[in-house]
Amino acid sequence: MLIMKYLMLVLALAACNAKSTNSAVSSSQAASASGAPSSQIVPPQYDAAGKLIKVTKSDEEWRKELNDLEYNVLREEGTERAGSGDLVNNHADGTYICRGCGLPLFDSATKFESGTGWPSFYQPLKPDYVAVGKDDSYGMSRDEVECARCGGHLGHVFDDGPPPTGLRYCMNAVSLDFVAR
Ligand SMILES: [Zn+2]
Repeated sequence: MLIMKYLMLVLALAACNAKSTNSAVSSSQAASASGAPSSQIVPPQYDAAGKLIKVTKSDEEWRKELNDLEYNVLREEGTERAGSGDLVNNHADGTYICRGCGLPLFDSATKFESGTGWPSFYQPLKPDYVAVGKDDSYGMSRDEVECARCGGHLGHVFDDGPPPTGLRYCMNAVSLDFVAR
């Protein structure tokens, strides 16, 4: 059973690593975000030196605020099952925010169909809203993406995305909330 679980995880990660198909977003596809947004945009604040003020909470506080899957992905760098996220096929206009702290992370205009089963974007709203670091787990060298404010794990970024950036931010839907315009 444990081996099966591990295999599923490796397969899921391998799929996220797969080259995207870059198919265009169809404007005829209706918005399908489930339910009302559960969070509000919480704009960034900066200290006197111009640095983004971070949100820090204890594990206990995060456990209270997040459900098990959200905690596993955001705080333990887990990965949701491909295609399981409610925002994968969301094509509404709006802003994708951090599930952990409400920082606006991605605009719907930069979302594209990657075919991976995870919400994919070609650029963050602002470069300093996300932090990118090396992740060599599971025998793959990938660039891990975190929320720059609360340190929540969002997903990974790959260099096989569409123009204009050529980047593919492969995000976990549970790490995000959607606020419609
Ligand atoms: Zn955050």
